[in-house]
Amino acid sequence: MPTPTAGGRDLEQAHRYGVGAAVAGLCDPGLGRNRLTGPLVPVLAEAAVTSATPFLRAPLLARISRAMLLHPTAGDATGTCPVCRVPAPCPTASALQS
Ligand SMILES: [Zn+2]
Repeated sequence: MPTPTAGGRDLEQAHRYGVGAAVAGLCDPGLGRNRLTGPLVPVLAEAAVTSATPFLRAPLLARISRAMLLHPTAGDATGTCPVCRVPAPCPTASALQS
C-alpha cells in the first residue's frame, strides 16, 4: 500500500470528522421522533458521508486541478513556472503536491 500524502491523510481525517458529525446529527435530540439510535447509526453515517463526499469534494478538486495546470510541477520548456516566473516547481506547485 502506498504511503499516503499529507493531502490524503487530511482527507481521511476530514472523512472521520464528517462521519462523527453525521452520527451526532442523526442522534440529535432536536430531531424528536425522527432521531435515530442504535448500532446502525454509525453504519448509516459512514454510508451517507461516503456517498456525499465526491459531490462535496468536486468543486474543490476542480479548482485545485485548474491551479495545477497554471503552475505545472515541471514548469514550461525552460523549467520555469509560466505564471510565477521562478524555477519549477514554484511554491504554488509545491503546495499543491503536498
Ligand atoms: Zn507558479
